[in-house]
Amino acid sequence: MADVPRSNRHLQPVGAETAEADRGDGVTPGESLIGSVELLAGSVRVALVSPAGRIVQRAEQEFPATDDPGVLRAALQDTVEGCLAGSDPCGVGVASAGLVDHTTGVLRRIDDRPGFTGYPIAASLTKLLGCPVFVDHRARLQVLGDRWFGQGAGRASFASVATGDTLGVGLLHEGKVIAPLGGRSGAHITVAVGGRRCSCGNLGCWKTIATSTWLRQEATVRGLGEITGVGDLIAAARQNTGARRLMAEYADNLAVGLSSVQHLLAPGLYIVHGDAAVGGGEFLGRIEERLRAVSDWAEFAERPRVVAADTAADDVALLGGAGLVLSRLSGQ
Ligand SMILES: [Zn+2]
Repeated sequence: MADVPRSNRHLQPVGAETAEADRGDGVTPGESLIGSVELLAGSVRVALVSPAGRIVQRAEQEFPATDDPGVLRAALQDTVEGCLAGSDPCGVGVASAGLVDHTTGVLRRIDDRPGFTGYPIAASLTKLLGCPVFVDHRARLQVLGDRWFGQGAGRASFASVATGDTLGVGLLHEGKVIAPLGGRSGAHITVAVGGRRCSCGNLGCWKTIATSTWLRQEATVRGLGEITGVGDLIAAARQNTGARRLMAEYADNLAVGLSSVQHLLAPGLYIVHGDAAVGGGEFLGRIEERLRAVSDWAEFAERPRVVAADTAADDVALLGGAGLVLSRLSGQ
């Protein structure tokens, strides 16, 4: 959200329209709006979302790198109250970083913020707003944004893939989100025995070879200059054999983790968000080829397709939070 100053909590109507105008355009009068929150280790984003997935109002606040749960509470409650108070949302969905207990809405862990462990996100916001509050991991939740508001609409099964500085897969399987307590979103599945050390402490996690961090490091090591993401990589690959090799390798590294998903749950459709989505057919086509190659024996099933998401990258988690509310309240 480049147009919103950092470190300031305030309301931000979408575009030049007002919330009232949106109600005439995207929200039926009397229809309940949905609250959505994205919680990261150092920032909170909040949105008021129409049932059709239109962001009517938003707010954001950054907070200092601290281990004090009081700072988290103040930032969360202040931003949520500022954006949602008076709107009477039918519910609030929180897309949180780290590990959360989605059955209780308690934050279990955010890397480098041990003091936040045990923070009762759902209880604290329910007390503040008096409406139901649901919490889950943000990478898993984006599948619900796609399911309610994006290319996953109408499908019973598909995968939603977060790429870039973060990595994760959200899965809808036969109408239900795969979100077991204690499960994660795929970034830490082991893809290489004895591979690189991961931030989680283990070796060879998918995250160690399939994020923008890996891409930037490899571009430097291979003397390809500054490549910050897939857009740069594709441009370089048009001129340079080494960059073409790196592009193929990066696509293959993403495909390695998704191959496990294909073998276990065969979601058929993979909606890619984040940095890899800008790669279009040149990049995503190779991932699709790999997924088809590892499942070509299943000619009786849907063949894997890999597509770029059509939702705004910044709003993926917020739409996922809104989708969580719709799913929980409707039982779908
Ligand atoms: Zn790991």
